[in-house]
Amino acid sequence: MRVKSPLEVYRFLPQINCAECGETTCMAFAARLIDRSKKLEDCPPLLKDEFKSKYLELARLLAPEIREIVIGTGEHAKKVGGDDVLYRHQLTFFNPPLLAYDVEDTLDDKALVERVKKIHDFKKFYVGRFLKLNGVAVRAISGDRTKFAAAVKKVAETTPLPIILCSLDPAILRAGVEAVKDRKPLIYAANETNWKEVAALALEFNLPVVLFSENLDTLKSLAVSFAEMGIKEIVLDPGTYPAGKKLRESFQRFLNLRRAGIKEGQKDVALPLMAVPMTAWFVENDPVNASYWETVLASVFIVRYADIMILHSLEPYALLPELHLRDTIYTDPRTPVKVNPGVFEVGAPTKDSPVIVTTNFALTYYTVESDLSSNKVNCYLAAVDTDGIGVEAAVAGGQLTAAKIKDTFSKAGFDFKEKTSHSTLIIPGLAARLQGDAEDATGLKVKVGPPDSGRIPGWLEKNWPPK
Ligand code: SF4
Repeated sequence: MRVKSPLEVYRFLPQINCAECGETTCMAFAARLIDRSKKLEDCPPLLKDEFKSKYLELARLLAPEIREIVIGTGEHAKKVGGDDVLYRHQLTFFNPPLLAYDVEDTLDDKALVERVKKIHDFKKFYVGRFLKLNGVAVRAISGDRTKFAAAVKKVAETTPLPIILCSLDPAILRAGVEAVKDRKPLIYAANETNWKEVAALALEFNLPVVLFSENLDTLKSLAVSFAEMGIKEIVLDPGTYPAGKKLRESFQRFLNLRRAGIKEGQKDVALPLMAVPMTAWFVENDPVNASYWETVLASVFIVRYADIMILHSLEPYALLPELHLRDTIYTDPRTPVKVNPGVFEVGAPTKDSPVIVTTNFALTYYTVESDLSSNKVNCYLAAVDTDGIGVEAAVAGGQLTAAKIKDTFSKAGFDFKEKTSHSTLIIPGLAARLQGDAEDATGLKVKVGPPDSGRIPGWLEKNWPPK
């Protein structure tokens, strides 16, 4: 993105503050364009002929440094690439890597469907949403185009997730493409030998394609050739060696490519990158060791700079670190993850149940909620709006105050006399200093709970009901 401030973007907008974009002013819309929560097409006046040149210029200025491409169709389509910075803290990383898990075309129908369902169904609840896997990579092991096409078709019938077609044989790739051409699969891969046939295939069906070479000059020259042929959706795979010196060289290639794309403005290689951590299985025979090493490789390339990955292990001990690391790296560091403030029921609270206060920082809220529900504590849980900041920092920074606690219950319409028999509030141990102020502000009896929500159930056994 060549523009960094809303003021620079504002110059190109109609500046009539008509609010058709959902923002009250053009300047507010400019800020939304910078953080990518709105797109140019959300401003109808800008699409009129009189603003055409400004629209085109702004589209050029706002385009991410790394090209963004889309794989798959419908609600499961996944954007990859689209980053603007080398380091997350400089802005944020935008599109989390697409994690695709392999299936071999030699599997019988039952085993294939079972594995694809496992990929499709896996989900892990984390701070208010589900972390999921994103794609299926069908590998042509059989060397038989009919078998490959049948496996690809079966995968497509079983899941709407994006599909990657893996073979270096253009005839086999064509059979796979013809089986799922409407699903916008990613073709993997074109190399020095097969590139002409694979390029023809990508052009004919207008599909995204991966270019593979461990030699960066060759990779760049392939990218230039494909671009000159009019293929825009290109992914680069510079090779993923699983161990030793060659792993270090693989990692260096990822760094060089991303630096060339973002720092040096080399548009030919400013493209999404693919890593293949499943190469760990080529050097490790033991499945647990292989899963472990695959996860290590995935972690390395999630951090630097893979936009798509092909993996193999579906063991939870491999998937959970991969998903959690990806989620952490791709969380916007400018915006704390938060839940809506309010007063929520945990279990089935009655008039005698405790009322517990926490903040609306998602990690805090869901940790407290999970500690309570897993211990079968029926209660009311109040999430105070602290702008998504945790308890201790919010008390120090003034985001968690007695007035805000009172406000939370007022806004939620929570009447202590009607809802409880005790008019008592429990605040976190880390907010103990608010006890007196909270009693004054709310007129309630305020008790100080433990500093760690894991200890609330034990604390309640000793301190509830209040004497
Ligand atoms: S729709 Fe366009 S012109 Fe209207 S306020 Fe939004 S940015 Fe400004």
